[in-house]
Amino acid sequence: MSVYPAAQPHTAEHETPGLPLQSRYLMPITGRPPQVFVRGQGSLLWDDRGRRYLDFVQGWAVNTLGHCPPVVRQALAAQSATLLTPSPAYFNQPALNLAERIGYGSTLNQVFFANSGAEANEGAIKLARRFGADSGRYEIVTFHGGFHGRTLACMSASGKAAFDPLFEPKVPGFRRARLNDIDSVAAQITPATVAVMLEPVQGEAGVFEATSGFLQQLRTLTADAGLLLILDEIQTGVGRTGSLWCHTQAGITPDIMTLGKGLGAGVPISALVATEQASCFQPGDQGGTWCGNPLMCAVGDAVLSTAARPDFLARVVSVGAYLKERLQSLSSRHGLGDVRGRGLLLALDTGGISAPQVVDRALEEGLLVNAPRKDTLRFMPALNVLESEIDELVGILDEIFG
Ligand SMILES: *Cc1c(COP(=O)(O)O)cnc(C)c1O
Repeated sequence: MSVYPAAQPHTAEHETPGLPLQSRYLMPITGRPPQVFVRGQGSLLWDDRGRRYLDFVQGWAVNTLGHCPPVVRQALAAQSATLLTPSPAYFNQPALNLAERIGYGSTLNQVFFANSGAEANEGAIKLARRFGADSGRYEIVTFHGGFHGRTLACMSASGKAAFDPLFEPKVPGFRRARLNDIDSVAAQITPATVAVMLEPVQGEAGVFEATSGFLQQLRTLTADAGLLLILDEIQTGVGRTGSLWCHTQAGITPDIMTLGKGLGAGVPISALVATEQASCFQPGDQGGTWCGNPLMCAVGDAVLSTAARPDFLARVVSVGAYLKERLQSLSSRHGLGDVRGRGLLLALDTGGISAPQVVDRALEEGLLVNAPRKDTLRFMPALNVLESEIDELVGILDEIFG
């Protein structure tokens, strides 16, 4: 109960049946089901009525190690008893450790920490504009279907059709090409172009992969034209697709990479990572009160110490192959569509069946999944999900499609 009087009399029009009463104080930025989640462990969640759910959303591809993993709890407990924030104007040991862990042995070795994916991408856009400033270049080629976050510049960079009419005027300087179509990229390059920016797998669009061949073509094209290649690995990074960063599977290195989501495994931290040549911020260009705070960096360091291990990544590949195979046989049993994606970022086309309706049914059956499109289900489980949990998922979906 709040100690404050209600701001408005509680009338029926403020109340949606089943929703928590206090929800009228939250801005309705998305439709939410009535459940209030109170506890999580591994691949399981519980609501305030004690009901158990199998979670294949995992904080939106965030919980690398499942809910409340010991690694994260220990890092939070130890760091919160030691040092929370000395200010980003001073060094702290966890930020130094995490920057080294990301950059060590790689040409992508200049790191700026931020708090959300959008903030890391905003930093990447600024870095590219800084890079092109001397030559008057500022345009960035991005992609139809791309998603880069919800700041004004990131929405402008995104290729999500629903964003097009919103918050006009957009930030100028973005031109859109088509994924896996190198000619469409070349056609958008002008004398003002400074960079090409994309996700190695378009997650929010419905799990559409940039092919390795396309990423290699982009690397060649950008290098030849003196452009930066920016990879948004906020969803694909930190083991999600079976390698620590997705781009290594194509045998390329971008000039700039952004990380978010899985890096904190449930807590907010993101990173902008650049090569020394691309890392051109001057003191004063970039910063933020919480950027590189020791509490979140200690968690990021603990997460990477697990997720970067070869045996951990090898298991993501094998369990991802298991999930894909189970989804493919589910699809053929029920006459559904394609299974797409890599590692543990997978999608299933539902054919003529409404994916949002499947999501609603699944919630009733105690399963959380996501529908990024009307005809697509997306699966983004914990990277340490068990085969038995995958079997349970497929069992529930079998009943729903039955
Ligand atoms: C989630 C996501 C973002 C935005 O991250 P936020 O933390 O929500 O700001 C950006 N790019 C990609 C590819 C994402 O999946």
